[in-house]
Amino acid sequence: MTSERLHRCELCGVIIAEAPADTSGDVLCPECTDHLSDAATELLRRAAHRVRDLGEAAESDGWTVGGYLVYEDDGGVTAACTFVEDAAWIAMMSPALAGHLAAWLEWSASPPLEPLEQREALALARALLTTPP
Ligand SMILES: [Zn+2]
Repeated sequence: MTSERLHRCELCGVIIAEAPADTSGDVLCPECTDHLSDAATELLRRAAHRVRDLGEAAESDGWTVGGYLVYEDDGGVTAACTFVEDAAWIAMMSPALAGHLAAWLEWSASPPLEPLEQREALALARALLTTPP
């Protein structure tokens, strides 16, 4: 039996058998060391696509908070919340942000960023792709 430890690339999630040679503490697969891997790039683009699709399918922008409710001006969107802070959060994340968020995710999928500079974008992309449809 081997005592080899397996590692997971912090960016694309691929399993790697050997620890990284550098001592920065970052665990990156060989592909992500120089540029973002195809898997990580695809993750960012899928998240951008999902955000854009959901935003375009949503009722409207201009969501506002009224007490524990989030509503769109013509009354087409209403969400009841237990806490007003939740309502404020939902209203802030209205479909008006979808295009900007998708553009940022797509931009993060492309050079000239260094792979580690894309870490937060990848974390966001994973979260966006694991939320319920
Ligand atoms: Zn990787």
